[in-house]
Amino acid sequence: MPVKSDKVKTPEPQPRRVKRRKADRRDRQASATKADGAVPDFYALVDDAVQGVIIHRNFKPLYVNKAFARLFGYDAARDIMAMPLLRGLVPEDIWPRMETEYDEMIRGSKQSYIGRTRGIHKDGHEIWVAVTMRVVDWQNTPAIMLTAYDISKQMEIEHNLLNSEQKLRAVLEILPYPIYIASRGDGQILFVNRKSCLLFQQSAGQFLKMKSSQIFVNTADRDNLNNLMENVSDIRDIEVPMKTMQGREFTAEIAAIALEYSGVQADLVALNDISQRKEMEAELFRQASTDALTGISNRGYFQNLAEQEVRRARRFARDMTVMMIDIDHFKPINDTYGHAAGDQVIQAVVKRSLESLRQSDSIGRVGGEEFAVVLPETPIAAAYDVADRLRQHIQDKPIMVGTTGLKCTVSIGVAQLSAQDGTVDDVMKRADAALYVAKKNGRNRVEMAAHPKRVGEIG
Ligand code: GH3
Ligand code: MG
Ligand code: MG
Repeated sequence: MPVKSDKVKTPEPQPRRVKRRKADRRDRQASATKADGAVPDFYALVDDAVQGVIIHRNFKPLYVNKAFARLFGYDAARDIMAMPLLRGLVPEDIWPRMETEYDEMIRGSKQSYIGRTRGIHKDGHEIWVAVTMRVVDWQNTPAIMLTAYDISKQMEIEHNLLNSEQKLRAVLEILPYPIYIASRGDGQILFVNRKSCLLFQQSAGQFLKMKSSQIFVNTADRDNLNNLMENVSDIRDIEVPMKTMQGREFTAEIAAIALEYSGVQADLVALNDISQRKEMEAELFRQASTDALTGISNRGYFQNLAEQEVRRARRFARDMTVMMIDIDHFKPINDTYGHAAGDQVIQAVVKRSLESLRQSDSIGRVGGEEFAVVLPETPIAAAYDVADRLRQHIQDKPIMVGTTGLKCTVSIGVAQLSAQDGTVDDVMKRADAALYVAKKNGRNRVEMAAHPKRVGEIG
């Protein structure tokens, strides 16, 4: 049977290794001065190699280098050469496989073997080695040359990694929040916990075939998240719309950290369906900001809106006017028709006021039957016209309370925001003063507040 031996030039074995080494050293010195192209001696190449090398025939050692001896915990190569068989270096369970490999290679049905296997250290503990095996010609008879190096550390790291990923999965599994891990690049889902399956209405098996983009309502959100993670690798409190497999959309509050998972760069994303909380917040806000009887802004919220408008008007140097409206002789309505009828009149006045105002105007109920309006982008002359139309619209037709039509009018004061006004209260006060004048001048009328003069201004 032909045996390949072209790669390694095997010299005639020497009876004593020591002598051979001396001869070897001479050869090495000689080869250093040899002409280019000379083939270095086998021993010169292998004796001091960092990789362990052993040549055996039927597991009887024929040659062992120092590194191989050290790998298995022996001081010198001769300690292994002295073994009648290499069996002591191989764990029991691997032995049959080693024999099969040997037979196949010697018979020529297999050229080489590369793999990981375990060995037995001199101390008795097992080591992990990466080995290559091939057939060589030794004394004109085939033998096996095996190279080996220690990969115990590497195997330990891999083992620990697997172990820690297992632990991570166990922890994530019991957390009461939906959590998933997706690879950074393509968003391939690598892990989902039970809560995620419940929230997204998807089995874990199906989930692991999906990309994270499938649970985002907008793919752009997933891309933004990806970019963000590239830059900061740790994010909190981000709100994004997500969807279940049945298409139910919800607002998710998410936190994410970058981590390596199963050897790939990935993101661990923890999320919370905050749709209900958002709805509750919106409802609370609505309750806190609107007047229950009329549905328009209450005093507090109106004040906020008005302050915002004042800031905007100042920033862009725009006109802004405020209107104060008070229902005339309202007490008698209450006294004659009852409080409920009074309420209906208040509602009707608000309805007619809204009909007379623009979308951009804000109205609020600032007292029992008093209302305030902010008119952005409006000088006082234009606001006067709006106020007068509103007044007209209210007095035009009686307000129906049951079958009774009640005549109702309002008085209005208007004032324009001036450079002197500190806050919105200042301009509202002047509008109030104008309202007082309107009342004094006979009601059912509009009065304008004088525009405050600048210091030194005449007229
Ligand atoms: P004036 O023309 O001077 O404004 O006379 P008025 O009778 O309207 O006087 P005033 O503005 O002081 O009257 C306010 C009345 O509004 C007093 C109060 O009983 C009544 N009121 C306040 N809030 C409500 C409410 O929510 N519902 C009802 N029905 N009446 C209210
Ligand atoms: Mg009144
Ligand atoms: Mg009043």
